[in-house]
Amino acid sequence: MKCPNCSSKDIGKIGSHQYYCWGCFIELTVNGDKMSVYQVEEDGTLSSLDDLFFGDESMQDFSQIHLS
Ligand SMILES: [Zn+2]
Repeated sequence: MKCPNCSSKDIGKIGSHQYYCWGCFIELTVNGDKMSVYQVEEDGTLSSLDDLFFGDESMQDFSQIHLS
């Protein structure tokens, strides 16, 4: 599994469906075949980055990410 943002392989598992990228400090949440990306704000809240990563054009790319 690589980070969709920075391509780092330094991904830590923080929950049954949650991962954290130590390269760019974003949180990845996996729901079945759907992956969501969140940025962790300074106050601990999560803001979705899905609009940046999962537009129609990029959807095909991310279908190739295989979760280990
Ligand atoms: Zn990253």
